[in-house]
This record gives sequence, structure tokens and C-alpha cells, in this order.
Amino acid sequence: MPASHSLTIGVMGGTFDPIHYGHLVAAEEAMTGLGLDEVVFVPSAQPPHKPPGDVSCAQHRYVMAILATTGNRRFTVSPVELGRPGPSYTIDTIDELSGAYGPHVELRLITGLDALLEIRTWREYRRLLAGCRIIAVTRPGKDVSALTELTLQLGDLGGQLELFPVTALAISASDIRRRVRQGQSIRYLVPDAVLAYIEKHGLYRADNAVASLCACPQLGCLEAAGGEKVICRYGPVKESLHQQGPATTARAEGEAVPSKRPVEDEPGRTR
Ligand code: ATP
Ligand code: MG
Repeated sequence: MPASHSLTIGVMGGTFDPIHYGHLVAAEEAMTGLGLDEVVFVPSAQPPHKPPGDVSCAQHRYVMAILATTGNRRFTVSPVELGRPGPSYTIDTIDELSGAYGPHVELRLITGLDALLEIRTWREYRRLLAGCRIIAVTRPGKDVSALTELTLQLGDLGGQLELFPVTALAISASDIRRRVRQGQSIRYLVPDAVLAYIEKHGLYRADNAVASLCACPQLGCLEAAGGEKVICRYGPVKESLHQQGPATTARAEGEAVPSKRPVEDEPGRTR
């Protein structure tokens, strides 16, 4: 870390539809193993590589990320992509977070191998790589030798990639959605609070497809819901956040980006 940086923050972007233990373990191990100060999870509003109708409402995914991380004071969740119209490009997020955190914070992107191997399809990936080191966490089913190949293809910028092996958890959000659709258990694949949220809102159920395509006018996905059934407009989701307690509510409604302050060891602080 250059001397001018006083904090290093890992940025873990994803669709998080839903967030699961594979994400959490990868983030925790990268954070502790590489000496990062915090990890900020950034749910994508509109993942550029997925058709809008295939992705659950961003508000649901954002709330689930908060529920999953609230017990770890070094994990935060940023709504930075939720306020931005159009596809959620990583370069825009890094630009925005860098500007918000300031020059004393170094951001490092944490990405699973499967996603990273597609990096040459990402918007302005060269500029992204030039300004941000990327931690490539291993993922079952993805051969690490592909990373060596990618590093070579990227030339000088390949030096910005760092492989970090994490505990292999063959968990994926698509498999979780499939299990719910087929009435199978997802217990112990996601935190209990996420499981309870999925059940409460009927997410991913075959008989409640609309819940996954609910209307969020700010995010432009009203069309995906046919403009009729409103399952989670911003209001009701906020309401459910109030039930989670003051710390979560403050984070969800407050700052547009996470705090710039270093994480402190305050016993009463939950996040
Ligand atoms: P989906 O199956 O819908 O694509 P996913 O499980 O891959 O969901 P994403 O939200 O797409 O989850 O992933 C966000 C980031 O977390 C990506 O960089 C991805 O590679 C990484 N990731 C997801 N699951 C794991 C896992 N089990 N181990 C390590 N990294 C993971
Ligand atoms: Mg994925």
C-alpha cells in the first residue's frame, strides 16, 4: 500500500440475488488474509451482463446484503449503484467511491474468478485496471490456470491481478434460486436473516415470480413487472428496514456511500 494511503478497502460487487455464504467467506478471507481494513459490498442495480427481467428487484437484494453483513463491523453495504440510472458499470462505481473516500483510501476490487475471466467485456476495463488492483478469489469449478492466461493477455496491466485462494464453497445464487423454485431447502447456504427475508417476501418461488420482478420506479424496473403489481416500492422496503433496528436503518437511509472513517473497536457498534 503506498504511504499516502491510510486505509485499504475491498469492494465486492455482485448481483447478490441473493447474497450467500460463498460471498461472505470470500470477502472475510480476502479481508483478513490481505490486511484490508473493510469490505464494502456493492449490489448492482442493473448488472450489465444480465437481462433486467432475470434479476430480482435491487431493493430486495440491497436489503438482503445488509441483513447478511450486519453482524460484521468491518463489512458495509453501499447503495452507490442503486442511485445511478442505466447499467451498473464497475468503473463508474470505482470512480464514485474513490471520489467519495478521497485519496487516502486505496480501493481494491474483490472478484470471483468466474467474473474476472470476463473482464475484457467490462466497460473501460483498461482504465479500471490501471487505477485499481483486483483480488481474484478462487471459485469451485474455475481453473486458476485461466487466470495466468488472462494475466499474460493483459500485458502490463496483468500485474494488477492478484490471485487469492479462499475456502471452496460450491454455492451459487442461481442454485439457491433454483432450490427455492423447486421447494428445496436453502438453510445453511445463506444467513438465517436472509432466509427469513426470502420466505417473508416470497422471493424466487415458482408461484410468485412477480415478487422477483417488482416495481422500483427509481431503478427503472417497473416495466419488468408489467407496471402493475407493486411488491416492493421504496416505501415498504424502508419500512421493513425499520424493523431491523437503528443501525441498519441508519445505514440504509443515510449516507450515499459508506463512512470514510476508519473502523473503530466500539463495542456498541454493529457495522
Ligand atoms: P449467480 O449464480 O446468480 O451468478 P453468484 O453466486 O455467482 O450468482 P454473484 O452475485 O454473481 O453471485 O457474484 C458476486 C461476486 O462473488 C462475483 O465476483 C462472484 O465470482 C463471487 N462469488 C460468488 N459466489 C462465490 C463463491 N461461492 N466463492 C467465491 N466467489 C464467489
Ligand atoms: Mg455470478
